[in-house]
Amino acid sequence: MTSTAEIIELSKKYLLNTYNRLPMAPVKGRGCWLWDAEGKKYLDFFSGIAVCNLGHSDPRVLRAIAVQARKLLHTSNVFYLDHQAELAQWLVEHSFADKVFFCNSGAEANEGAVKLARKYARKILGQDRYEVITMNRSFHGRTLGMISATGQEKVQKGFEPLLPGFRYADFGDLSSLEKILSPQTIAIMVEPVQGEGGVRLPSPDYFKGLRDLCHRHKLLLIYDEVQVGIGRTGKMFAYEHSGIAPDIMTLAKALGNGLPIGALLARDFVASAFLPGDHASTFGGNPFVTAVALEVVKAVSGEALPNVGEISPYLERLLRQLPGDYSIVQEVRGVGLLWGIDLACEARPFVERCLKKGLLINAVGPQTIRMAPSLLIRKKEIDFGIKILKEALNEEGSQKPL
Ligand code: PLP
Repeated sequence: MTSTAEIIELSKKYLLNTYNRLPMAPVKGRGCWLWDAEGKKYLDFFSGIAVCNLGHSDPRVLRAIAVQARKLLHTSNVFYLDHQAELAQWLVEHSFADKVFFCNSGAEANEGAVKLARKYARKILGQDRYEVITMNRSFHGRTLGMISATGQEKVQKGFEPLLPGFRYADFGDLSSLEKILSPQTIAIMVEPVQGEGGVRLPSPDYFKGLRDLCHRHKLLLIYDEVQVGIGRTGKMFAYEHSGIAPDIMTLAKALGNGLPIGALLARDFVASAFLPGDHASTFGGNPFVTAVALEVVKAVSGEALPNVGEISPYLERLLRQLPGDYSIVQEVRGVGLLWGIDLACEARPFVERCLKKGLLINAVGPQTIRMAPSLLIRKKEIDFGIKILKEALNEEGSQKPL
């Protein structure tokens, strides 16, 4: 296959029409850069939706892939698996958790979290509690269970009946949460930063309030760190900013830097609710993905996190100047290397404008764009990206307002 046009034509002919794709076909990547089928170079400012935190073709990741591919890909969880155990050990030693279960995606990790919470209620507490409170504007995945958990009508519409057992509170608002608790509530599931909901952060004392509330009502606290875990916010896990750890946490996206892997982490008292036969995954934590993910977490904590610490204040300063300089920039929100910008224009055409100029960002709302560059990004790449962004803002600003 040679041209972008051919790739697009073939995709339209043979793939289900589930994605509103940008008219670009990346075929090669290195660091923060992608190349399309015609050889045009793009600065990647969203890393495959916050997945390639070490950028593309990272040498450590490539080496781990090559070494493990020659040794062993898959055997199943019928056996004990060396790298699965080592990765679990690394995650436990670097987090609040005592035990880990591996799966293949974020939605699956969240399914596991809800199943574990329900089992904990029935088996350990001996109570018929199954309800999980999630947040409006949240996003937890696309399985039937997780669209039911997601507090956005647009992802649920047309797929009813939804799975019972979820209620939605307003993100950042403890009183809205307390009002909808019921005797069946067992857990609160929340993203430390709402990514798909438009990069939204609650006030710093929110998580302390959540923890107190969970304590008072004997609820489990579940963090969905699928998007913000693995260094994205400047800490290995986003909960480290508040210092308020959960009882269960889910990871996926950046854990494999592009290989599909998800994880469910839990404290012992709740993890012990699962026994053989309660939960499983054929591919989950196979030797190949866990060997690579082990290198990923080591590289993120060893090299990427110090870079985020150094570079993110610089990016933040440049972004926070935008509302003062451009009337179409309404609000800038974010932390570490995850940023959302509300525009006074439609986000999608703006994203396409940036794409034409060689900058890849994406839309997370009708008027909100998101940036999530590689955690190894350098200052000159940030300068280049901001230059293109400003050109696009200038052009957009000279158009008629919405
Ligand atoms: N949870 C959060 C916070 C996410 O951002 C996403 C995906 O964007 C998911 C869950 C779903 O992950 P996956 O697409 O790997 O199932």
